Amino acid sequence: MKTFLALCGLCLLLPLAQAQQLKLRILETTDLHMHLLGWDYYQDKPAEDFGLDRTATLIQAARAEAKNTLLFDNGDLLQGSPLGDYMAKVKPPQAGQVHPAYKVMNALRYDAANIGNHEFNYGLPFLRRALPGAAFPYVNANIVVDDGTQPAEAAKNVFTPYVILDRRLTDEAGDVHPLKVGVIGFVPPQVMLWDRQHLQGRVRALDIPATARRLVPRMKAEGADVVIVIAHSGFERGETVFFAENTVARLAEVPGVNAVLFGHSHGEFPGRFFGNHPKVNLAAGTINGVPATMPGFWGSHLGVIDLVLRKDGAGWTAVDGRAELRPIYDRAARKAAVAPDPLVAELIRAEHEGTLAYVRAEVARSTLPIQSYFAQVADDPSVQVVSHAQLAYARKALAGTPHAALPLLSAAAPFKTGGRGGANYYTDIPAGPI
Ligand code: MN
Ligand code: MG
Repeated sequence: MKTFLALCGLCLLLPLAQAQQLKLRILETTDLHMHLLGWDYYQDKPAEDFGLDRTATLIQAARAEAKNTLLFDNGDLLQGSPLGDYMAKVKPPQAGQVHPAYKVMNALRYDAANIGNHEFNYGLPFLRRALPGAAFPYVNANIVVDDGTQPAEAAKNVFTPYVILDRRLTDEAGDVHPLKVGVIGFVPPQVMLWDRQHLQGRVRALDIPATARRLVPRMKAEGADVVIVIAHSGFERGETVFFAENTVARLAEVPGVNAVLFGHSHGEFPGRFFGNHPKVNLAAGTINGVPATMPGFWGSHLGVIDLVLRKDGAGWTAVDGRAELRPIYDRAARKAAVAPDPLVAELIRAEHEGTLAYVRAEVARSTLPIQSYFAQVADDPSVQVVSHAQLAYARKALAGTPHAALPLLSAAAPFKTGGRGGANYYTDIPAGPI
């Protein structure tokens, strides 16, 4: 009889306990660099190991498994492929036209996105024309107007520093609860050096962790039940200087932060490369106990964070969280792990075909093959041709000036040699038409 009563009591309590719990799944893409399709425009052939069209399939699958999901992009979106250059330099969106990145992301129903450093590569006017195409909010908290205001923290933000999204979440019992989700974004302050010609005198950058410590309490005070940091910033050991580029270890220590979506360094977290860091729990996918993801680059992975929230007075508190990465490509089997979502190619057919025509047009001929496989260790034609181009450009620019007679030296670096671009990131052009 006693056993029966105890069991029965548990039965009555169980639905009540579930009603006090919410599960929230958070999805991240980062560093897409305009690889909307699995198409290698340099080699002019399909590719299976990158492309948002395959990540889109993972997004749909991750949504189908969970009652409540949010989807975020972490920037370095608009630049980095011939499609990006074509949209910025050949066919920039006119008033009322939507950039192909946002045609796709609007269809995928992104909830918010963050500005990456490469968003500044084509200048602020291009960015201001492109961003309104996004049907979701953009956040950045550490770029402010350079109008002489002191201290810089008091200057006006260039972008919306954070948003507090009002969402309705369904609990395990099927009941719906309002939830306020705070989302804040950051970009490396080094944009002031990398894109000086576009930014100097117009904007200033603030330190990332200091800005988070200042604004996260404000977001909590404005009612955010959950705070998600989208940081276009990597995770390096021991980088604690003011104005650091890679700040994720310290962002995960800011009180009130419940999830960190990061990127920029094109790595994979959770991933074995970060296993020995004292603050990392690789099995749970946490840094300092905070679930975090860095889903590679070019759509190679989808970041998936699962938070468990418990009722806490009038609001909700995150009590548990774990993170994982889902790849689009099976490296061991050397084949695609998922099929592309055909909707993506349909949405941007005109832009894709315009880019193909652009890159297929002949601009020159080479009598020798140009490849960069050994560019880091030996003289190399792929670097030499860049050096020649720089000299030609500089001679033209100096013509008719007092410097025209000076001897000119040209130095070029072997950029396209694997590394963070991946094992296929090399120049390889056969002899013949370019
Ligand atoms: Mn990037
Ligand atoms: Mg970056």
